[in-house]
Amino acid sequence: MFWNREIETIAGDNLEALQLSRLKWTVRQVQNVEFYRRAFQKAGVSPGDIQTLDDLEKLPFTTKKDLREGYPFGFFAVPKREVVRIHTTSGTTGKPTVVGYTRQDLDTWTELMARNLTMVGLTEDDVFQNILGYGLFTGGLGFHYGAERVGMTVIPSSTGNTKRQIEMIQDFGVTAINSTPGYGLHLVEVAEQMGASLETLRIATFGAEPWSESMRAELERRLGVDAYDSYGMSEMYGPGVAFECEEKDGLHIWHDCYLAEIIDPATGERLPDGETGELVITPLVKEAMPLIRYRTGDITRFLTDDCPCGRGKRIARLSGRADDMLVIRGINVFPSQIEHTLLSLPEVGDQYMVYVDRINHLDEMTIEVEINRSYFSGELADLQRLQKKVSGAIRETLNLRTTVKFVEPGTLPRFEGKAKRVVDRRGAIW
Ligand SMILES: [Zn+2]
Repeated sequence: MFWNREIETIAGDNLEALQLSRLKWTVRQVQNVEFYRRAFQKAGVSPGDIQTLDDLEKLPFTTKKDLREGYPFGFFAVPKREVVRIHTTSGTTGKPTVVGYTRQDLDTWTELMARNLTMVGLTEDDVFQNILGYGLFTGGLGFHYGAERVGMTVIPSSTGNTKRQIEMIQDFGVTAINSTPGYGLHLVEVAEQMGASLETLRIATFGAEPWSESMRAELERRLGVDAYDSYGMSEMYGPGVAFECEEKDGLHIWHDCYLAEIIDPATGERLPDGETGELVITPLVKEAMPLIRYRTGDITRFLTDDCPCGRGKRIARLSGRADDMLVIRGINVFPSQIEHTLLSLPEVGDQYMVYVDRINHLDEMTIEVEINRSYFSGELADLQRLQKKVSGAIRETLNLRTTVKFVEPGTLPRFEGKAKRVVDRRGAIW
């Protein structure tokens, strides 16, 4: 199902011409922002230097830190009377980031959300309960306006009061919900305790926090829905930058509104398609707060095959943050890649620890995992076979040799809150 088939499937020369003209417009628009006038000067580039899409690489990056330093309105490229709404990101450290929208920005954002929701099969016949926070957080209003534009019956239930959420699903015949994946699991647990049926639900969209394929399987089974992944951030309007289609295999990034690159977070070099690195986005039509090469800090890669649905470029499910990256023997390693590989092997339990040491001037990585008794005979030969299997799987993913140690179930540390499973012990040796 398409909301706007022509633009969603635009490709080849037509797409590139559209992207280039919009990039040229954006590069001119940012000249209204002092930060960019100075950054362009420092990089020795001017708007006229952008003649092809490849020229994007000449332009400087924008970081979260830059945006914070512009608090509150330093990145606005239009007079304040043209800004019709403001949102902020949660300021976990220091000041939040303020984002502004013109009337046209709100319209574009709503259009993108309507595409996303249509793409997963939602129509004007659906009743959509939006269980995300309304307010300065962009999640609530972003989905709300998109769902209304599609013509769904929208229930702005916001967060909290799970019993009431469940009653609304039952009383209003809700067919679709939108929340964080964690809340989705909480909702179904409470419904099961209440003995409440959620049988009217058919589709759920989840975002705003990382989740795995196994969590999707669980949510789909227990909620009785097809579950889809959404990706966005306030700096790019909010939710709706990229979204899964019905194939559930990667998220289409809206190519008419965003130019995406994957870079090596350590060097800033652009990586070839298919390689894992940090997602960098240049929005192409943002009026109030245009940005150039914004470093999202999110780790992903481009999928290199074409999607059967006919839409454009896809990114893989997000796999961690650039801040967590380790460099081991010159190879970039994201802890999430290790976790993903381990969780795909039934022979190991859910718990693991990673240690990085420098031995004889060489980086060595050791992974401790708990053995799953039901896959282990107790024989030494069997243990060696399992170690070989796990280290082989890690080498295939990371291209890195590791030592795998199995330990007894229940012996690795358990974490409440944020887990610290990676211990880098190299610093002490310098
Ligand atoms: Zn698709």
